[in-house]
Amino acid sequence: MANNAVSFKLQAEYSLFRRGVLYFVKKNKSIQTPGCMTYTLRGSVPHLIKDNLSLLPIELVHISLEHFLEQKDPSSFKYPHGIHKYINFEDELIYCDIRDPVKFSPISFNTDKYLSINTHGGVRQVTPDNWAEAIRIYRPDVVASMADAISDLGAKTKRITRSVDRTLTWLDDNLKKIQVLSDLEIPVFAPVMGHTDVGERARSATETAERDVQGFIVNMLGLEEEQLGDHVKASTDNLPKDKPRVGYGLASPESILVGVANGIDLFDGTYAYKVTEKGRAISFKFGEELKNAAESQNQPKTISLWDSQLAHTFEPIDTTCGCEACSRPHTKAYIHHLLNAHEMLGPILLMGHNIYQLDKFMACIRKSIENNQFKEDMQAFMKHYSHKKEVNGRDDHEDEMDDQSLGVHLKKKRTLLL
Ligand SMILES: [Zn+2]
Repeated sequence: MANNAVSFKLQAEYSLFRRGVLYFVKKNKSIQTPGCMTYTLRGSVPHLIKDNLSLLPIELVHISLEHFLEQKDPSSFKYPHGIHKYINFEDELIYCDIRDPVKFSPISFNTDKYLSINTHGGVRQVTPDNWAEAIRIYRPDVVASMADAISDLGAKTKRITRSVDRTLTWLDDNLKKIQVLSDLEIPVFAPVMGHTDVGERARSATETAERDVQGFIVNMLGLEEEQLGDHVKASTDNLPKDKPRVGYGLASPESILVGVANGIDLFDGTYAYKVTEKGRAISFKFGEELKNAAESQNQPKTISLWDSQLAHTFEPIDTTCGCEACSRPHTKAYIHHLLNAHEMLGPILLMGHNIYQLDKFMACIRKSIENNQFKEDMQAFMKHYSHKKEVNGRDDHEDEMDDQSLGVHLKKKRTLLL
């Protein structure tokens, strides 16, 4: 039986990049594409509570089962009213996958029977039965089927082939299980694997497209930035045009642009969180807005609020921004002071600004596609900005996201003490 819970309409299409609308029939809500989901950590948008969220453009929220399955019998499974109510996102759409796209590090092996996840209660295994049980109880608006993802860049062909095969086997199993839950009408987005092997990417896309799924997830996690273009294309070239494609591992603005240029419609939105954790605020612009900027090259994409030179800068981060931090306005000096004082309000203001600005970036990309200016605008962006990794202004070193952001270091420390 076909699942008609979502429909996807392309409004404009030039070359590989496209402008579309993903419509959720039951909720009567539309997501404009290309767009970003909002990342959550343990069922919460980091640093923000409902009052902050209501001021932000948040429509489609990404949740990871990994953040909930810390026990064999998770407490959230006892809650009878679904995940929307449980995490207080009743007005938003919820996209549910198993693993967290930010914290994608090798943990333990997957086998044909289960995939391993890294919960704050330790490593656990998710079987197809566990997956179906979670979906039955949580009732999200979209669900990703199980993926045997590879994090090792040097993985051999044999491992990549096994990842493609295993993911297809799980997809067939997951689809059978979702059929049993057909009265819930939950659309399934299927992972497209293949890692660093272009041939396997094409095979994975072709075989996945033969299944009755409502969307695809092009998995780019673990790949180097310079590999992205060709590998995204190897997947999207073999997918039908009339279904949406989510891109994983395409977080930075440059990766988002490469994704859009190769036909990706939705992104995980983790960049807003990543830069906030570094004490940074998005300052880059795109399209029409960038044209108004002064002609120059190698400009930074974000500013570090840890920078002590901002201690006497009594102006907001961005006078044109409509977020709470900028429109109130809070000065850079004040936010700098808040970060130094380890005051919670600092990351709250930054997270709000960064979610607002990432959404604006996506809106500018959509406009650029509508005007058939995307190629030129992307070139202008690449020329105008520096593409070095943002560094942490306080310590002047690269502050990569790692297990520490999830509190896993606390557990390890405790284990050491024992
Ligand atoms: Zn702002």
